[in-house]
Amino acid sequence: MTRKRVLSGIKPTHDSFQLGNYLGAVKQWIELQQEHDAFYCVADLHALTVETDPALLHKRTLASAAQLLALGVDPERCTLFLQSHVAEHNQLGWVMECLAGFGEASRMTQFKDKSQKSGADRTVVGLFTYPMLQAADILLYQADYVPIGEDQRQHIELTRDLAGRFNSRYGRTFQLPEAYILKSGAKIYDLQDPTSKMSKSAGSMQGVIEIMDAPEVNAKKIKSAVTDTGREVRFDEKEKPGISNLLTIHSVLSGRSIAELESEFAGKGYGDFKAVVAEVVVEYFRPIRQRALEILEDESGLLALLHQGADKAALVAEKTLSEAYRNLGLVQR
Ligand code: ATP
Ligand code: MG
Repeated sequence: MTRKRVLSGIKPTHDSFQLGNYLGAVKQWIELQQEHDAFYCVADLHALTVETDPALLHKRTLASAAQLLALGVDPERCTLFLQSHVAEHNQLGWVMECLAGFGEASRMTQFKDKSQKSGADRTVVGLFTYPMLQAADILLYQADYVPIGEDQRQHIELTRDLAGRFNSRYGRTFQLPEAYILKSGAKIYDLQDPTSKMSKSAGSMQGVIEIMDAPEVNAKKIKSAVTDTGREVRFDEKEKPGISNLLTIHSVLSGRSIAELESEFAGKGYGDFKAVVAEVVVEYFRPIRQRALEILEDESGLLALLHQGADKAALVAEKTLSEAYRNLGLVQR
């Protein structure tokens, strides 16, 4: 039986991943690479939607690859590459832009959120069209599953719509991908604003757990997480979003159920609870951070690995693109 194909990516928009990137996405990447034919990329082209100093983008791209490896992405089991190393992404991206409706693209909530935050003057066209590039990223590899966090679900729906539209107009070319979203811990919220999602390019990093930050920094952020005025450590996303978020974080990292944690902390205050969550988080990421720093010390080794990944990815991408071009009626070279 052939293994199902998986594709996912992460943008190098910050020096460090945040906790939600791991719990919502990368943790699943690591599980999926065991039984699937997985393609994982650092989506450096997507990072261009935010203006970034070139030296910083370069550094963040390598740091992202190093963090993926340190978290357990294994190049022996999957294909790890940089998106910009495989030119077919842009080529199929244009095709997707020509299939997508303007109204359809305007309904993407990520665009609405991000453009509202940065204001019209700082919103680039690439932010509007990136879901179409993302559709190309996925469809190029004929992915069956796309492991993502809840915040990306709408983009996968768009990808399916575009793939379906292409297939019905030009003949079956693309596999329709499915979002693969972990039920528990799928969405992690900002510690200072527990109703908005944790994000590595947030305006303030006060409520964001960065996995490459020093343990003391993260412990402090968790201890000053916003909670409600009550006293009970109980999972209730409506009434207690802050406490519920911390319970989710503890539960996913420690592998213990929410119910078990609720009874352990019955009668104890929020302070005690936060101190334990801080400990769980810090100890979990301590060796991972160390490993990522070691990987970054050997830059040529890291690059060699990424080049191999790009070669493997390009084989699949070239095949899909040439089929799509042929089906569109473009004259073959
Ligand atoms: P940015 O602010 O630059 O968009 P981000 O933190 O949202 O950064 P992405 O690179 O957009 O990170 O996303 C990488 C993966 O992490 C995606 O699969 C996304 O769904 C997932 N993800 C991002 N934030 C969260 C979150 N708070 N909870 C769960 N999953 C998340
Ligand atoms: Mg994002």
